[in-house]
Amino acid sequence: MATDSAPTQAGSLLGLMQDDYPLTIKYILDRARTVNGRATVASFDGEGLTRATYREVGDRVDRLCGALTTLGVQPGDRVATFMWNRQEHLEAYLGIPSMGAVLHTLNLRLFPEQLQYIVEHAQDRVVIIEDTLVPLLAPAVAELGIVEHFIVVGDGPVEGLTGQVHRYEELLAAAPESFAYPEIADDRTAAALCYTSGTTGNPKGVLYSHRSTVLHAVGECMADTFGICGRDTVLPVVPMFHANAWGLPYSSTLTGANLVMPGKFLQAEPLAKLITGERVTVAAGVPTIWLDLLRYADEYRPDLSSLRVVPCGGAAVPRVLLEGFRERHGLNVVQAWGMTETSPLGAVAHAPHDVDEAAAAEFRLRAGQVSPLVDVRIVDAEGEPMAWDGEASGEVEVRGPWIASRYYEDPTGDDKFHDGWLRTGDVASIDDRGYIRITDRSKDVIKSGGEWISSVDLENELMGHPDVLEAAVIAKPDERWTERPLACVVVRPGSDTDAEALAAYLSGRVAKWWEPDEYVLIPEVPKTSVGKFDKKALRARLESGELRGAAGDQS
Ligand code: AMP
Repeated sequence: MATDSAPTQAGSLLGLMQDDYPLTIKYILDRARTVNGRATVASFDGEGLTRATYREVGDRVDRLCGALTTLGVQPGDRVATFMWNRQEHLEAYLGIPSMGAVLHTLNLRLFPEQLQYIVEHAQDRVVIIEDTLVPLLAPAVAELGIVEHFIVVGDGPVEGLTGQVHRYEELLAAAPESFAYPEIADDRTAAALCYTSGTTGNPKGVLYSHRSTVLHAVGECMADTFGICGRDTVLPVVPMFHANAWGLPYSSTLTGANLVMPGKFLQAEPLAKLITGERVTVAAGVPTIWLDLLRYADEYRPDLSSLRVVPCGGAAVPRVLLEGFRERHGLNVVQAWGMTETSPLGAVAHAPHDVDEAAAAEFRLRAGQVSPLVDVRIVDAEGEPMAWDGEASGEVEVRGPWIASRYYEDPTGDDKFHDGWLRTGDVASIDDRGYIRITDRSKDVIKSGGEWISSVDLENELMGHPDVLEAAVIAKPDERWTERPLACVVVRPGSDTDAEALAAYLSGRVAKWWEPDEYVLIPEVPKTSVGKFDKKALRARLESGELRGAAGDQS
């Protein structure tokens, strides 16, 4: 009998499915404006909310693509954005990749030299920029002469911008109503570019494809990750320049979840008001944001009852945060692990169903259970895979359909990739259910007397002290032990908690030899451009003698 199936080389049979149906952001755009056309995006400007339906957003995306084409944007060109989370940013997210160009989200918290490097490296021809942010970008890129067009969102001043300057709304109004989208037959085509915050060397570009972005969006809709669905109202507190706001704009438009965009208003009070007012069901951000909200919620008791899940990641989530929200506010803060290079979803820490509450609390403290379709392992110093026994500790490596295979035009980063795996630089153990327990970044590890001390665990314990607002533990060089832990601690204003009290508090909570030798009380832990504790900055302060001096006074 004749068969339609083609045999493969190995004699196995190829499936007869439409495997070459491309997974594209254009599909997400089409679905957003039709099936999900009634869902809305609401953007907060400090006073009120501007709302649009996804159908209206789709119409504006057509005009945006027409306008960009008129400005000369071709498939493959990089179009940058320099904006907070708002409707126009969503339009860029959906439109730029759909027209075959590459959405490049610039991190507006970077230093001018870094921005300059990134704009030049990416060769951004066009930048869509929020008017209030013009003074941040203009000095950095004025002399580069690379950006041909700035498209300004808002009516504010545009002094300092070189090249041609346009107003977003005027461009859209003048653009044709419809746009003939190119066919993106190969879904491996580049869709978006995001540079890592780069703690060492130059920032590195992660170039997402249509396929990786769509699969990642679907990944976020699984119940075992965040379960984003059409009944959700999603508040991405994580900025759209940080790993594509963790993919939430795409999973929300794919499913028809409403989006609430907080703009630059990332403080506890406006966030709490948005959650209450918009009945937000999913709010995602880094731990520093939620620590603030927890303090606010403890004091003012806002109505946060609409939240079904609060994804929190980008850095280790302290126990006080998970338990504080859970016990005092009945909220489900769920830890997640990922990197810009992993799109970022890599692991999510829902507790298993077959353990008691005490054990569940420990599972929630882990970085997470490796997400479906992501493959993980830990390796020793020789690169040999290690056991998943919850004990052995090694560097985490990952691979999968939304994991980077190399950096964009930067061979200096090639050593992060080998044999199809990405080296994450995180040190962890994995248990037999695939739960990852991160003890440190490899460069933050404290090596004392040949043994590792987990800065993450020490910070967690310290932040459990009722008067401690923030704690970051770094390695201090030590003649005898190579390194010893130094704790940099921020205490509640007015509190008289000192080094002695902290040492007494930790005693018995961690192994004796883990206890920090010194405590330095500082007014604030420095933060990176994406809001994480900046240990590199703390180490630099230590090296310059700044922290040492303070330690002498305190301990
Ligand atoms: P970025 O690419 O800026 O998002 O940084 C990625 C890095 O953040 C990871 O390699 C981890 O070191 C850290 N990270 C992210 N999520 C977690 C987590 N849940 N626990 C500990 N570290 C995390």
